[in-house]
Amino acid sequence: MKYNINFDLELVQNQFQGKYYALEGIDGSGKSTQVEKLAKFFQKENKKVLLTKEPTEGEIGQLIKRVVTKEIKLPATALQYLFSADRAVHLQDVVIPALKEGKIVISDRSLWSAVAYGITDLNLQENEKERLLIAYNVLAMYGGYLVPDKTFVIDVPFKIAMERVKERKKEITIYENEDKLSKVQKEYEWMTQKFNEILVIVDGTQSIENVFSQITSNL
Ligand code: ADP
Repeated sequence: MKYNINFDLELVQNQFQGKYYALEGIDGSGKSTQVEKLAKFFQKENKKVLLTKEPTEGEIGQLIKRVVTKEIKLPATALQYLFSADRAVHLQDVVIPALKEGKIVISDRSLWSAVAYGITDLNLQENEKERLLIAYNVLAMYGGYLVPDKTFVIDVPFKIAMERVKERKKEITIYENEDKLSKVQKEYEWMTQKFNEILVIVDGTQSIENVFSQITSNL
């Protein structure tokens, strides 16, 4: 059964005193490296900084971790709702209070991860028509959520990212295999083109310093 529904998705812009930046990209793209560098950059300017990440370490975030590390199995849609719930709590308890205090909030991942990973998990046939529909379905889970003032998507070929992740020897998640990582990376590229007014693409194959200056020149 198909229904045609047209609607405008209301994503809330930051009206608070502080600034909200997010870093996006596949695992191994260099997000946490750049998040740390950005924090130091703003601290040197005597700005108050809050460094944070999604999924969180809270109750829902811990549940997400158990799913992505394959300890428990959930339908892909259920996982997406968990991410959405985790973000709602994160915004309410952490991000918005910090923005109200005038802090610079720098987040490792944001709701945009949900679009790229959500399409990867839900668009199994890689059907172009389905892709947009799934993107809207995922975004609909974020109606009324605050969006970062600027989101930097670090673009790195998945093979380079895989090499970096291997060296890290961290817990392997459901997303850290070649097939998944290459698909997520493709979805990030698609999403960045589709939402190019809000997403800033950064060439992550460059040196750490060079990636950083691409970000700071767009702040
Ligand atoms: P993410 O947070 O996106 O998973 P990390 O920042 O943890 O990625 O980076 C993964 C690994 O790659 C780390 O060992 C980091 O030092 C390294 N790295 C990050 N950025 C670069 C870069 N531009 N060039 C080379 N190595 C990098």
